[in-house]
Amino acid sequence: MKKPHPHVIPRRQALRQLTLMAGTAAALPLMGLLSSRSAAAETADKASKTAVKYQDHPDGTSFCANCANFISGAVAGAPGTCLVVVGEISPKGWCLAYAAG
Ligand code: SF4
Repeated sequence: MKKPHPHVIPRRQALRQLTLMAGTAAALPLMGLLSSRSAAAETADKASKTAVKYQDHPDGTSFCANCANFISGAVAGAPGTCLVVVGEISPKGWCLAYAAG
């Protein structure tokens, strides 16, 4: 029996790898479409800063960091996001949609 060359990939293994690569290549654009669609849907569901009179400073003792809608940033004090207002949100900000948390 002829011994296979050490650098030759068996046909079945090569076909399996090609199938995986083709599947991944086909899925990448779809994943990008889904993520951009999700971002667009998220933006459409949220109020603009203007609509809720967002300001980058507190309103007395009310501010974004102690609002139930605030989603903290990566580190304490860093800008975060908001469940109801679009865009980057300062933890020291405030808006009309403030909800004591
Ligand atoms: S609802 Fe208004 S006050 Fe509350 S986190 Fe969002 S932007 Fe800040």
